[in-house]
Order: sequence, then C-alpha cells, then structure tokens
Amino acid sequence: MKKNRRDFLKISGLAGVGFASIGLLPGCSSGSSNETSSDINWQTDPEWQKVQYGEWGGPGVDPRPGPMDEILLKDYAPKSSVVVPETFVPKAKYPVIDVHIHNYPARGDGDAREKLDEWVQSMDEVGVETSVVLTGATGNDFDRLVEFYLEPYPGRFQLYCGLTTDDIANPDYPQRAVAELERCYEKGARGVGELTDKGLGLTSDPDLARNERLHHDDERLDAFWDKCRELNLPVNIHMADHPSAWEPLDVFQERTPDYQHFNLHGDDILSHGEILVRRDRTLEKHPDTIFIACHLSNQGHDLAKLGEALDTYPNLYLDISARDYEVGRTPRAAKRFLTKYPDRVLFGTDMGMQKSMYQAWWRLLETDDEYMVGRVWWPYYGLDLPESVLEPLYRGNARRIMNWENV
Ligand SMILES: [Zn+2]
Repeated sequence: MKKNRRDFLKISGLAGVGFASIGLLPGCSSGSSNETSSDINWQTDPEWQKVQYGEWGGPGVDPRPGPMDEILLKDYAPKSSVVVPETFVPKAKYPVIDVHIHNYPARGDGDAREKLDEWVQSMDEVGVETSVVLTGATGNDFDRLVEFYLEPYPGRFQLYCGLTTDDIANPDYPQRAVAELERCYEKGARGVGELTDKGLGLTSDPDLARNERLHHDDERLDAFWDKCRELNLPVNIHMADHPSAWEPLDVFQERTPDYQHFNLHGDDILSHGEILVRRDRTLEKHPDTIFIACHLSNQGHDLAKLGEALDTYPNLYLDISARDYEVGRTPRAAKRFLTKYPDRVLFGTDMGMQKSMYQAWWRLLETDDEYMVGRVWWPYYGLDLPESVLEPLYRGNARRIMNWENV
C-alpha cells in the first residue's frame, strides 16, 4: 500500500492519553469541549451505558476502583473458564482452493524458496490443493513471481496480476493499462487483483484531489474491465474496509488496538457507503466481467444488505478471507447466508502460511464448537456447514468461475 501511515493518535485527539483510565475512575466530570477521554466519567454517560450494557442497562454490580483500572486495553486478554468440546480438524473435508493469498515467502528474513517449499508441505498437510496469489504486480515484478511460483509448482499456485497506475491523467492511460494486462495474461496471469479502494481510489495517493482519483467505476477503466471479460480473468476487488475503520479511535471503537493502524477516521476520503456505491456502478457497467469482492465485500457485519447486492448483480462473487471474525461472531446468520448463496462465496485466507491458521478455519467452518478464541476480541462459534455448502465454498465455485487454462 502506498498510503502513508497517518498519525492516528493526533487525529483522534487522544495523543498522550492512555486508555487505562477510561474505565472506572470515579469522580471525574464531563462537559468541557476540550476534555480528553480520561476526563470523562463514562459510567454516567447514557450512550456509553447503552453500548456497554445493552437494553438491560447496567452492570448489576457496584463497580469500584481497583488494579484493573490500570490495565491497558491492548494488554487485556481474559482467560476463558468455559469447558466445552474442542475439535481438532487437521485437514479440510474437501481439497481446498484458497483464492486469497499474497507473496508471503518474500516477507521477513530467510530464504524465500525454502519458505515456499515449507508452505507447499503445509498446504499438503492441511488439504489446500491450490492457492491464488494476488500479486497486485505488473511488469518485471510480475514476471519474476511467475517464475518463482509456477516453475517449481505448476498447479499448486495461480497468479493474479495487478493494474498499472502510472500516469493515470495521461490520455493514453486506458490503452496502456489494457496492453499490460494482455502482456501479463500471456505470461500466465489468470485473474487480476487485489485491486483496493479504501476511499482514495486505486492509486491510494493522498495528494490527488477528489476529482482526480481513479475509482473502480471510472471510465478510464472501462476498456480494462472489458478486456478482463474477454480474457476470462476474474477480478479480486477490495472495496472499502471494515466499517469500524471510519469510526474514531475512542471508547466506542469496535475493533481492538491491534487494528488501529488501519483506521481512516477523519481522512479526506469516500465514506464506506460511497465506496460501495462505486462498487455497484462498476458491477452494473460491466455485467459480464466477474468481480470477487474480498473480505465479504466488507459487509460481513450486515449480511442482509450484502445479500441484496448479490441478488442485484449476478457478476458479483465474494471471498470470505480475513472475515473469520464476522462469520464467527454471527454463526447462525452466516450459515443462513452461505446456505442461501452457496454458489457465490469462495474460500480464502489472506492470513499467512501457518498450518494452525488453516486448521482454525476448518474448525470454524466444519464444527459446532463454541466460544473459540478469535481475533479482534470476539469469540467464535462454529458454523457446522453442511456438505452442500462446504464443497462449493472450498473449491466448487472456484473451479467453476476461475480461469484454469494452463499457463
Ligand atoms: Zn489481501
């Protein structure tokens, strides 16, 4: 990502204020306009009470000061005393096509080739047949990745290329983008992505004015999407982000501090909803191009709305990657959704190469285990998906809609 990491603390107005004291400090008064979070007695704030305790309205105990007032939110990791069955699922029930991975072996220290070999061994052990590398790369960078993955492991990996975004204001941009796509296709690209718009457009360039940014529905990309259709290349698009990224980093922030560097609150960007409008326009303008909106199109929190989009746009598909925390916290709604749209959702991880990561996914999707430790801070509940939903999710849909022409 080209986007600069902003100083989110400055923007949220919480610089220098620890979260530790937000909780149970007695005797603080609220009301002044430049107060910091720690000056506010949240215990008496009606909105805070409703968010914290729900309709019931109170803790049911008399909160008093104590050592926990000094614990930092980022350190809080409660141990569960729940005793329920824990199922270990070493290998997926069907051979899996993971449609959302990145070039992980290149990250960190160590020999990339060795890490790739180990990864393929892990894929064998957990039951992943093929992984789709969303390289986002073009030019030499893409060509090198083709060599790296497809020469030693043809069939085990499929590569998606990126979109050229140099000099997008130049009138020759649309033709250049198409020409590079054709070149990457000849080299072995079998899809495009991940093409991300978190509100700044596809270049993620904060220096561009709003009317200069390149969003998915821009007419400069019309020829590109048409070429994707012609070459039978699905496009993996990352539209918006988790909605909490647009909310302030304060006591009401939904995700843990682990995610605060993804926060976008206060940036001069499109809203979550505005980005999804752009998604819909793109889908409508290019009805024969296949778009896979990753991370449940960042609407995993509102599956009814997401279902409306699937009903409206037959060329819209989803990947479930990195949204274990959405389906895990609403297992019944998620199961109903996946059962209603068994031919529209693809399995993906986007979470690295660890065996235990894959196995946590199998446990989440295949068992009815309860109160599993999850990411963010939401415990997960197993979806216990039936075979008729699991098989298309794991591989059937990918086999049907992706381009499996040999390279
Ligand atoms: Zn990704």
